[in-house]
Amino acid sequence: MRPLALYLHIPYCLSRCHYCDFNTYVLDGPQSREYVRALAAEIRHQGAALDAEQRRVETIFFGGGTPSLLPAEDLCALLEACRGAFRVAPEAEITLEANPETVMPEAFVALRRGGFNRVSLGVQALHAGLLQVLGRPHTPARATEAFGAVRAAGFANVNLDVMFGLPGQALRDWRRTLEGVVSLAPEHLSTYGLTIEEGTLFGRLHRRGALRLPAEDAHLTMYREALRYLPAAGYRRYEISSFARPGFACRHNLTYWRQGEYLGLGAGAHGYLGGVRSMNQRLPAAYISAVTRRGSAVVERENPSPVAQVEEALMLGLRLADGLHLAAVAARFGLPDPPIDPAVLARLTGMGLIEAGDGLLRLTEAGLAVSDTVITELAASLVLQPGICA
Ligand code: SF4
Repeated sequence: MRPLALYLHIPYCLSRCHYCDFNTYVLDGPQSREYVRALAAEIRHQGAALDAEQRRVETIFFGGGTPSLLPAEDLCALLEACRGAFRVAPEAEITLEANPETVMPEAFVALRRGGFNRVSLGVQALHAGLLQVLGRPHTPARATEAFGAVRAAGFANVNLDVMFGLPGQALRDWRRTLEGVVSLAPEHLSTYGLTIEEGTLFGRLHRRGALRLPAEDAHLTMYREALRYLPAAGYRRYEISSFARPGFACRHNLTYWRQGEYLGLGAGAHGYLGGVRSMNQRLPAAYISAVTRRGSAVVERENPSPVAQVEEALMLGLRLADGLHLAAVAARFGLPDPPIDPAVLARLTGMGLIEAGDGLLRLTEAGLAVSDTVITELAASLVLQPGICA
């Protein structure tokens, strides 16, 4: 049976963070109840439409938004709907994204009993002033308390998200956050550098020159600090931003990075199945109405060209510390081996940005710091066969 991952999008939050451009909206109680009904209906519809017998669901990820804003019984019912519509592996990784201000101890006990076995908690910073700058409603004490409640509920696989490169953040603040989260001993840590997005409060402030961001080299120093400190604390970096104790890499995200197949359910969710990319209606009201009318809310389907797929294989695969098996990519898409101009490989290797050998290609630590540039250059140097066109 072919492996499959399910992503369920919950597009509600308590408030809007100042940097966020995700597809999420301030919680609307009556609409969220309709949304849960529509999502359950979409799960049933997609399970029936797919050859569900031929696929085994290995991971389910409830993301958002803030899924933990929904009542535990609704979340458990959605998980049950997945089990009813698909073959879910008994050892499937089932993750719930949560924010500290929404973690209620009894609800997490119910979620654990209902089958969730991994929690990803948005801590972001253990610094009250920085959390306020980000527009996050929790405090460092609340984040620590929430982590304790998640553990007490029986979750033995927990990720904490933390951010660097924040307005007004000094290296010592970042170190304090890293030390604080490591002292909690989660199984997984995700470290994200702040990016400024159009349409957010930070985007508007940045355009007016009113956002005091760390200089580029300070941003890089913070990332390097994570690269130095977390492995020494027992967390292996297995992806550009992801660190885990042995055996706790996020199986769901690995599916994306390895170009595995996944089904996106919910408003604005993306899927990749049988070589086809799809996207659902983005607005919750439009999503509910589409599912109510026709069972599905897919509004876009695309067959990416072989070249686009190879570029994507590079972009995603090079995020992984283990790197990318170039020969396998070449064979999969009918390209010469290596599929990248050898002169470019030699130049980037000479600059100490990549390591190539035994068919594997990976970024070095120096390459990680400029990963976007290196990956773009490699993707632009694909050696194409006659007949393969972009
Ligand atoms: S909690 Fe997360 S999804 Fe919600 S607004 Fe903040 S950053 Fe965006």
